[in-house]
This record gives sequence, C-alpha cells and structure tokens, in this order.
Amino acid sequence: MLDQIKVILVGTTHSGNIGSAARAMKTMGLSNLVLVQPKAEIDGKSIALAAGASDILKNTQIVDSLEQAISDCQLVMACSARNRTLDWPVLTPRESGRQTMAEAAKGKVAIIFGRESNGLSNEELQLANYHVCIEANPEYSSLNLAQAVQILCYEMRCAYLETVDKPVVESEVDYVDSEGMERFYTHLEQSLLKTGFIVKAHPGQVMNKLRRLFNRIRVEAPEMNILRGILSSIDRTARGQTRVDK
Ligand code: SAH
Repeated sequence: MLDQIKVILVGTTHSGNIGSAARAMKTMGLSNLVLVQPKAEIDGKSIALAAGASDILKNTQIVDSLEQAISDCQLVMACSARNRTLDWPVLTPRESGRQTMAEAAKGKVAIIFGRESNGLSNEELQLANYHVCIEANPEYSSLNLAQAVQILCYEMRCAYLETVDKPVVESEVDYVDSEGMERFYTHLEQSLLKTGFIVKAHPGQVMNKLRRLFNRIRVEAPEMNILRGILSSIDRTARGQTRVDK
C-alpha cells in the first residue's frame, strides 16, 4: 500500500532537503520520490543527508511539470501552511494518512510539497483534491521541507499499521485520475466558451470555482462519462446540430 504513494517535491532549491526527504520517506517505508523542475541537483550533499536512503535518490524520477507527475494519481493532496486565498477542503496529516490508506489499494496517491522559498502557487494547489495543513504555531507555521515530509510520511505509516492484520476493505469506487480530470476541465472550458458562458476576454474565476467543485466531490469513472456526454451535447447544440437517433 505504501508503494502506491508518490512524494512529489516541486522546485526544490536545497539539494540537502532532497536527501533529507528521501531519508524521511525510507524510515516510514515509502520509496517513490518525484522531483518537478528541481532548482537543485541530486549531489553529494543530498546523498550525505539521505544516509542509508540513497537507493531512493537513485530511483528518483525528475519531470518537467506537476501535471505530468500526478497524471496517474486518483487522489492528490497538496501540503501547505494554511492558505487564505483558496477555500479548499483541508485535512490534518492524520486524516490524510487514513484517506490514503482507504484508497491506496485501488489507485495511486500523490502528496505534493512546495518550494522552500514560497511554497506552491495557487494554480498548483488547485490541482489537488485536498490540502494538508500541519497545524503548527500560528505565529511560525512554516516547517522545513524535509520535516514536513517526515510528518506526512509518519502519518501514512501509522494509518498503514492500523490496517495490518485487518481485512482490507477495498474501496469499490473507481475515481477519475488527474489526467482524466484535466481533459475534462479543458473540454468544459471549451464548451463554456462556445456557449458564451465564459467570455474569453474576461474569464473571471469561473474555471477555478468549477475546479474546486469537481475536485471536492471526486468524480467516479461512470459519472465522468455522463459529464463528457453532456458537454458533447452542449457542443452539438452550440453548432446548431442535434443528435440524430438511429
Ligand atoms: N515559505 C513557504 C514555506 C515553504 S516550506 C511558504 O510560505 O509557503 C516548504 C514546503 O513544506 C511547503 O510548500 C509545504 O509543502 C511544506 N510545509 C511546510 N510547513 C507546512 C505546514 N505547516 N503544513 C503543511 N505543509 C507544510
């Protein structure tokens, strides 16, 4: 189950933090580390701080975009010290561990961490189903990156240990993965532009709000077929055509 979890670090600037994050992961039994556009290379400092976890560094995947990193994940969580500009569902690390274990038997889970200097952008945070906030001292709530990774990985392990020796109740639900959701958002935006609901010159916040809505409810695969069918029918109507039944 822990193999289903990807730890994703975005734009990391300190190579030592990459090594410390690998160590934090391995102590808790996680092994999939993905770096998105890292500003630092995996170097001697990373290897020194990884200590016995340099195997994780060897297998680390480096990718160009966050979308690519999460494309095969059906549950996406982004870690952030509380962010006021986005009103997204927020989990504690404990809740995120339990939610992960409830779904890991069925699909991949991403946990995203931001840059040391300025965390994750709003666009990046909006790719997640949930935000995870470590309720730290409100006057000084920003943890070191690798220490935040440690706390999340520890909660994943605790939740995993709770499931050991207990029958795994596999989730029946097949959620749409992140790539499928992105295709849907592109289609939705195109359809709403065609109908004039969104005006290209003044798009406003509509797409962000719709993203929040659909990421919150977690769309299941058969539901997505209906949604895409509805969009196609809107597209046809906008073209002045109606479906001809055989
Ligand atoms: N100065 C940055 C914090 C960067 S810390 C900012 O204000 O956003 C690097 C990363 O560690 C963050 O992007 C986040 O993913 C994680 N992190 C640090 N403190 C956290 C907290 N209290 N809760 C959740 N994640 C946290």
